[in-house]
Amino acid sequence: STFQQLGLNEDLLNGISDLGFETPSEIQQKAIPVLLEEERDLVALAQTGTGKTAAFGFPMLQKIDVNSRTTQGLILSPTRELCLQITNELKAYGKHCKGLNVVAIYGGASVTDQAKQIKKGAQIVVATPGRMKDMISRNLVDISKIQYSVLDEADEMLNMGFYEDITDILAHTPTDKSTWLFSATMPKEVASIAKEFMYDPIEITV
Ligand code: AMP
Repeated sequence: STFQQLGLNEDLLNGISDLGFETPSEIQQKAIPVLLEEERDLVALAQTGTGKTAAFGFPMLQKIDVNSRTTQGLILSPTRELCLQITNELKAYGKHCKGLNVVAIYGGASVTDQAKQIKKGAQIVVATPGRMKDMISRNLVDISKIQYSVLDEADEMLNMGFYEDITDILAHTPTDKSTWLFSATMPKEVASIAKEFMYDPIEITV
């Protein structure tokens, strides 16, 4: 299939064509149409390199309202490097989405600078759990209107001991949001997070 057939809008198709992507990867073909059409939770077993960032990124970019400054999408990822990588990818994918603001939140850098960027109005926040929890407790970021949350590399985040931070963060988000979980493996800790925070998820394996 083609990106057009997946139901993506003109702005995103233009971004995709700028990047030179020709065909959607398997996870993109399986995830994008359902995430665009339904407000559903998702559990996806997928390794890095499968194109999973675009699998959640395209639907999120299409579904958020760029005319609003409210934070609507939250992506949690295990490391600063991954956080920056996802942020840069989303910016590239959404290059033609006018008004889009994606901000990265991670440890080891100035909280003040990150808070300033958030204050300008970020529709999407990409964060590591520790810094995110810190900024929530200091009221520097408001995730009470989140509609889409992604747990990326969930197995890695749990291996790194982020269980409490993740559950704490999710407790500050609305219960009627959609949650999309991506993991390379499905140990019982990941299964229990899915059970605790997700309702009747679509399951995809690639
Ligand atoms: P990811 O698995 O999200 O880390 O993506 C791996 C790499 O593949 C990234 O550099 C993406 O920019 C690239 N990529 C994602 N989807 C496609 C696609 N459909 N065609 C070509 N490259 C892609």
